[in-house]
This record gives sequence, structure tokens and C-alpha cells, in this order.
Amino acid sequence: MTLVQLGPPRVRRKSRQVLVGDVPVGGNAPVSVQSMTTTVTSDVDSTLQQIAELTAAGCQIIRVAVPSQDDAEALPAIAKKSPIPVIADIHFQPKYVFAAIDAGCAAVRVNPGNIRQFDDKVREISQAASSAGVPIRIGVNAGSLDKRLLEKYGKATPDALVESALWECSLFEEHGFTDIKISVKHHDPLVMIEAYRKLAARCDYPLHLGVTEAGPRFQGTIKSSVAFGVLLAEGIGDTIRVSLSAPPVEEVKVGAQILESLGLRPRRLEIVSCPSCGRAQVDVYKLAEEVTAAFDGFPVPLRVAVMGCVVNGPGEAREADLGVSSGNGKGQIFVRGQVVRTVPESKIVETLLEEAMNRDWTTGGY
Ligand code: SF4
Repeated sequence: MTLVQLGPPRVRRKSRQVLVGDVPVGGNAPVSVQSMTTTVTSDVDSTLQQIAELTAAGCQIIRVAVPSQDDAEALPAIAKKSPIPVIADIHFQPKYVFAAIDAGCAAVRVNPGNIRQFDDKVREISQAASSAGVPIRIGVNAGSLDKRLLEKYGKATPDALVESALWECSLFEEHGFTDIKISVKHHDPLVMIEAYRKLAARCDYPLHLGVTEAGPRFQGTIKSSVAFGVLLAEGIGDTIRVSLSAPPVEEVKVGAQILESLGLRPRRLEIVSCPSCGRAQVDVYKLAEEVTAAFDGFPVPLRVAVMGCVVNGPGEAREADLGVSSGNGKGQIFVRGQVVRTVPESKIVETLLEEAMNRDWTTGGY
């Protein structure tokens, strides 16, 4: 099977590398996808169950919120049993940073905007993180920007976000701690893009990309895709988190698709479906959804075409591994542009699956 591998067509920004558990971030490591659990962290079973689902969907690093002592106490069990590295997300309480490090978390995320009390704790945190080999993410968010910077800049501008991040880094650097990655998130993709560009030019720390509060599934997907697409195409970004007001498994799927679309992660399933037009002789939208569902989780990467007519279908989908063109209540099943079977419309999906499973795709599907 020949898959079109696009890239990466860009020069990656040179960043230093940190290790989040066994996942390298930065330093030319593959861009990783991460997400955040939505369960109550102290509910260990539910949290581990969600982590397992996210891992199956392609998540490589998971973050859990630690707003209470109960959550902090759940960290050892979660860190031990999670199949992927766990990052503890700490906002107000420095003591939970130490708890997370002791618990075996792979990294800790702190937010400079609301942890000013960290200032006098930075030395201790640096020492603890350094001896445990735990990196720290400086996670700056527009919504919780330091008051001092809000006053200076008037709002969360790209410069304000960058200054906040670099100032926090400098506190750790004073103690010789540089095992750091950074995010400067904003809900506006244009501000976010500019902030990351400026940050990328001023340091070599690996960057965690995120559009914060990006919105519900549709809007959030578009905003994240546009922002990440621009930055990743410029070589900026070492790990990504898509934030959606939707189940986190959707975040992971979108993140994986963004990387696949940019050639930064090998493709799994790609559905090449036509938009339909006046020539269509089948409900293309419905058929494309059915084929997508049927091939979800297919064990080898495939490009599957769903075309609405037999006139243009096979030609337009020549580069697909297999596909269907519909007409007169039938489906022409084709493999690499050659029609191999014609079946009734009701048998299209199962026939496509059958053809996919009965072929050796390592030798081109024949
Ligand atoms: Fe129209 Fe056929 Fe092209 Fe689909 S494949 S857009 S139905 S011409």
C-alpha cells in the first residue's frame, strides 16, 4: 500500500528536550497528543477508566486536576496504574506540587498567574522536581494572568503572556532548574499564535500548544486546528492539547487528526469522501458516516473513498486504497482505482470491510 506521506515539510524549531515519563517532548521528538481527565481525580477507578479510554484513542500524556487533598492522595494509585504518563495540574496549593512529585507523577503543571505564593517555594520545588527527574510546565492562561502584567499591558496580549511565562521560568532558572516546558494559552487563536511565535523566538524550552476555552466541539475543533496548523507548519510546538467542551476522547481524536493531517503522525484511517452534487446517486453523507464507523479502529492504515457517482468517482479517488462509487442502487467497489466487484447498495459497507480484511495491504492490497 502506498500512502502519501506529506512531511514533515517544515523545519522544526530547535527546542531542548524534557522527558514526561517515557514520552520525550521537544528536541525533535514526535509531537505528542495530550488531554485532561474530567473525572473527580479522587475517584481513582473512574479516572483510570477514562485514562484507559483516552489511551486507546491515541492520547500519550494525561493531566489530572488536583484541587483538593483527596485528589492529592489519589495520585500515587493513578500514577502507578496509568498506562501513560500522568501530569498533576496544580493551581493554588504549592503543597500539592510536592505531593505530586512524591506520588510518582511524570510532570507537574503550575500556573504563574494564581500561584504567586510559589515565589518563596521555588527553590524547594526546583530541588524536589530535580531530584525526582520531574519536569514542570509553566502554564500561562489568559484568564488567570498575573495582576501585575494585566495592569502593565491592559489585557492578556501576546507580550503579556510571554513575559509572564519567561518571568516564571527565570524564578526556576535562578535555582538551576531548566527541566521546563511552557504554554501560553489564549481563547483567541490569533493572539495565541502570536504569543507562541514570540515565545519560540525568545527561548528554547519545548512548547505545549493550546487554545484555551476553545469552545464546543465544532468551534473548538476549528480554532485549535487553525492555530495548531499555523504554528506546527512553522515548526513551533512539541506537544498539543485540544480543549473542547466535549468528552476528552474527542480532544484526543481531533489532536491526532491534526498531527496526521500535517504529516506529523502516521495516518491511520482516512476517509476520502466526495461532497456530493447533482450527479450523486446515493446519500453520500450517510454512506460516509457508515463507512467511517465500520472502519473505526481498523488495524492497518487505509485510505477509503466514498464517492457519490460512478462517472467521476473512481477517477477522483484514484489514490485511495479502496473505495466505492455508487449508481443505480449499486456500488462499484474499487481497489487502487480498479473496479473489483459490484454489489447492491445495502451491501456496500460490509463488502468494503470484507475486501479490506481479505487483502494484504503490506503488498499493496493484492
Ligand atoms: Fe458529484 Fe460524483 Fe464528484 Fe461526488 S464523485 S462530487 S457525486 S461528481
